[in-house]
Amino acid sequence: MKVFKFGGASIKSANAIKNVAKILNSQDLSNCLLVISAMGKMTNAFEKITDAYFNNDQEKLTESIDFTSNFHLRIINNLFAENHVIHQKITVLFRQLVRFLTQNKSRNYDYLYDQIVSYGELLSTIIVSDYLNEIKIHNNWVDVREIIITDAVFRDATVNWQETEKRIKAKVDFSKLTIVQGFIGGDLNGNTTTLGREGSDFTAGIFAYCLDAESLTIWKDVLGVLNADPREFKEVQLLEHISYEETIEMAFYGASVIHPKTIKPIQNKKIPLIVRSFKNLNSPGTKVSEGVTLEPTIPCFIVKKNQVLVSISSLDFSFIVEENISDIFKLFHKYQLKVNLIQNSAISFSVCVDNNLNHFDLFYNEIKNMYKVSFVKNVDLFTVRYFTENSLEGIYKLGTSLVTQINKNTAQIIIQKK
Ligand code: ASP
Ligand code: MG
Repeated sequence: MKVFKFGGASIKSANAIKNVAKILNSQDLSNCLLVISAMGKMTNAFEKITDAYFNNDQEKLTESIDFTSNFHLRIINNLFAENHVIHQKITVLFRQLVRFLTQNKSRNYDYLYDQIVSYGELLSTIIVSDYLNEIKIHNNWVDVREIIITDAVFRDATVNWQETEKRIKAKVDFSKLTIVQGFIGGDLNGNTTTLGREGSDFTAGIFAYCLDAESLTIWKDVLGVLNADPREFKEVQLLEHISYEETIEMAFYGASVIHPKTIKPIQNKKIPLIVRSFKNLNSPGTKVSEGVTLEPTIPCFIVKKNQVLVSISSLDFSFIVEENISDIFKLFHKYQLKVNLIQNSAISFSVCVDNNLNHFDLFYNEIKNMYKVSFVKNVDLFTVRYFTENSLEGIYKLGTSLVTQINKNTAQIIIQKK
């Protein structure tokens, strides 16, 4: 069994989808499962629908629904004949979405988010599946919400591995190529859940694990795993081999090439992961497996944006001790603020947290009654694995450094941009 994952960029247009078909035709597809994300930037577009709906902004709601619907219609007009059943299927899905919006009574944003944003993956997989069938790459479309079972923590659901493994093994017929949605799952009440942004890699990892796959391939628009994000850094290099441990370290610090939760399941079963380019079939890409830590061994740069640097001290200037730290962490957990760096001194405790769910203000409102709290929003956290003197200099030039933490292999610097 082989698992392939194609992300949004690989299916962002009709031509891109044709390219995916070309790649599939060059591969052995017996015993293969495809995990597919929403097309292009459609997840962002569905987030806009969610916001407009939640804020009751009728004009923006209509505008954003039209935008996503036109995007998909343009693609199917390019890929299918006028009388193909796909046109009907897509219309039905959009009607279903609008019906949900009209009938829904919930004001739980995270719940609404998952019910709405998941349409991105439902649409993309139905389109790709029908197109591949049309050109004789025969496949089965499967609704992953019935097999990846999670808890009901919307937008950040945790997988129920036992139930999921049971269902994957029982429900999927692998005599044909199977196509499933990445990123989404279902709870035991039949509600749609999501695994966190960019979670399709994780979905692929879940399938690889449950199916004891021989390999997992993630097809990307870059050559493989690079030592820095080419959108942020001018000079980047391909990493040829990375160990599971090193990949987990890098993902932990925020490397975005592979979703952090993806590695553990495949490491447990020693399933090799190949990250390679859908634009360049000649490049071997990066292999993540057991063995050498990092080949070549060069500094690797990772940036986490939209961070908040929070400093917490007690109201009466007493020391911050274990009990306080435990209270504070309970609140971080409660508001799903991911802690990326910790700096402790006798009377103050500083942490850098992710604010990607925008829960920071809620956290602040609660903690400010118990502690003296100051914070700087919108800072960047740079991490350099295998740093050299030179490699850090460039980072200090980007703004004011607020915190630097150095240990054996890793340097971390918090920068407030100029
Ligand atoms: N479509 C989802 C997202 O953009 C999941 C993914 O792409 O992995 O976050
Ligand atoms: Mg995506």
